[in-house]
Amino acid sequence: MNPPAMEALLYDTHMHTPLCKHASGEPEAYAEQAARKGLKGVIFTCHSPMNIPYSAHLRMDITQFDQYMSMVERARLAYEGHVDVRLGLESDYFPGAEAWLTELHARAPFDYLLGSVHPQMVEYQRWYFNEDAQAFYRTYYEHLAMAAETGLFDCISHPDVIKFVHPNQFKPEPIMDTIAQTLDRIKAAGTAMELNTSGLNKSPYEMYPSNTILTEIVKRDIPIVVGSDAHEPKRVGADFDKAFDALESLGVQHIHFFLNRTRQAVSISDARASLRQTGGLRQLALDFAQKFV
Ligand SMILES: [Zn+2]
Ligand SMILES: [Zn+2]
Repeated sequence: MNPPAMEALLYDTHMHTPLCKHASGEPEAYAEQAARKGLKGVIFTCHSPMNIPYSAHLRMDITQFDQYMSMVERARLAYEGHVDVRLGLESDYFPGAEAWLTELHARAPFDYLLGSVHPQMVEYQRWYFNEDAQAFYRTYYEHLAMAAETGLFDCISHPDVIKFVHPNQFKPEPIMDTIAQTLDRIKAAGTAMELNTSGLNKSPYEMYPSNTILTEIVKRDIPIVVGSDAHEPKRVGADFDKAFDALESLGVQHIHFFLNRTRQAVSISDARASLRQTGGLRQLALDFAQKFV
């Protein structure tokens, strides 16, 4: 007898919309790819509008916020019963952003709030970089801890994206004391952390965070959320198998995602099996349906 068909279980928790001006594809195309991958759902986490000029060319304007919600709602209705489409936000944190983000987060019933420090932004570099790269790296980690301590976020995203600013230069080892303190503070704040597969696309071609930092996160038993950070539909669910391999090699058995701001756990072995089985079946069904339209 065949084993019973598995249900889809897993969400991809990090993806964008064209409103941020550097992503392509309508939300429906992301949901479609999620169906093919065997995901249960997707959470849109487009870049937050800000109330001051802060990399305005890489985010939606506040006047587009209603449009963001209606785009996600439109995809939710289109895929109801097939892919569970949820509303989230990737909010930019820097010291001083707290009041704005508190107000912004109250504007919609978000399922998931991802807190990001983006040290590649010109404004961030102008404020915090003064020729000493090591000091800049430490400042970035101080800000990650501060972000968690605001309580504004469910999860802290891509926690070594700083390596993308200086791909050949950044090494965690020389500032491991600061990183360790940051992880202790994030653990104490009860905030989850992201394993982001998008780093595999760009130099230095490894996930965010690297294995060195991931090991420290795992040591502290901080809940880990896997996200693709898709800026185009085909990246939805991309390289989740590599994320699972990295986590399992460190002895991690469960991954997490948030719905209604509440953390859910899934075992990695169940997640793998559900992606394989439901992804394969849905792929067949979608290909079959496409032949006859
Ligand atoms: Zn982006
Ligand atoms: Zn993102």
